[in-house]
Amino acid sequence: MSPRPTTAIIDLENLKFNFRSVKSFVGGSPMCMAVIKADAYGHGTKECAVALDQAGADWFGVATLEEAMELRTAGIGKPILCFGGVWPGQESEFLKFDITPLIFDIQTAKRISNAAGIGTARVHVKIDTGMGRVGVPFAEAAAFAAELSFLRNLEVEAIMSHFAAADDPDEADFTHLQIDRFHAAVAEFQSRGTRPRFLDIANSPGAVAFPSSTEDMIRIGGLLFGLGGDVLPPNVEKPELKPVMSLVTKVAQVKRVPPGTTLGYGRTFTAERESVIGTIPIGYHDGYRRGLTNKGRVIINGEYAPVAGRVSMDWTIVDLTDVPEPTVGAEVILIGRQGQRTLLAEDLAREASTISYEITCGISGRIPRVYVNG
Ligand SMILES: *Cc1c(COP(=O)(O)O)cnc(C)c1O
Repeated sequence: MSPRPTTAIIDLENLKFNFRSVKSFVGGSPMCMAVIKADAYGHGTKECAVALDQAGADWFGVATLEEAMELRTAGIGKPILCFGGVWPGQESEFLKFDITPLIFDIQTAKRISNAAGIGTARVHVKIDTGMGRVGVPFAEAAAFAAELSFLRNLEVEAIMSHFAAADDPDEADFTHLQIDRFHAAVAEFQSRGTRPRFLDIANSPGAVAFPSSTEDMIRIGGLLFGLGGDVLPPNVEKPELKPVMSLVTKVAQVKRVPPGTTLGYGRTFTAERESVIGTIPIGYHDGYRRGLTNKGRVIINGEYAPVAGRVSMDWTIVDLTDVPEPTVGAEVILIGRQGQRTLLAEDLAREASTISYEITCGISGRIPRVYVNG
């Protein structure tokens, strides 16, 4: 069966380039955890993991047990940290497949300790230093450390935390406050006999903009996929990054319409002039967001063409009036480069009022991923 031409092209050489670029930019000796949760930010877990394993990732970070298992099935033998908690019933799988749980409450710690039986389970502890999402509240670190010290078959291998606003230079004071709270919390564990082998707090913006936060390991997600334009602070020195995902399709139909013609659901676009209109086989079910209605752009024959009218579930209409020689079957770039024109995930994000991560994560399973330069 030949699929429709709507495809995400994933450049594994650029993925490896970004890994090396971030590592050399950060410098020093911190280990690097490749964060490939959410299907590697939409790029494909298995293929990205294998490439990053080859590039030298020390750890992998995922959000769910299912994602961790996918890595083990793909043959990844490196340590895997699962950020998403250990839900009742998952304890034995974590132990059996050697997936490192991140713990943030004492009940979970006890369940893992019990499941470990006479063995030892290695865990990482998450401290909430100001993100307010999951984590042992920093003010309760001492009590938590004391309770944890009674669970003899748990080994606290690492203590970590997560930044709330390391991407925002105006929040630098808060980021430094988080670092201070983190060190104070770690000291509470150390004074109760816990000796974590390493500490980690830096995500992508932390590692780039707050060198003092790199500790023993950095946890890098977005930068690996070349997504830096909208999640790094604007005025700092940055590692060189290359986009990893391109999104392409082909024109399905071309028509000429007279002025006054309205297009799409809700008739939100009216042709002001005699126009050439193209229809392309991608819509919001594919992750081409409805927020791009009358805002997004694509590249066809080396020229930008604006989205005309509402993005629908399976189709999007584009205005080809200013595109040279628009024909059925012409290649359409939704993310990527053609000739002198470029569209980044960051550009779509701006037009759809979101961030680049949500754009690439949102490219749905209906779109096949094609891997190049593997
Ligand atoms: C997603 C995530 C990261 C990676 O964040 P990036 O901004 O993509 O580098 C790091 N740590 C935790 C706990 C995360 O959930």
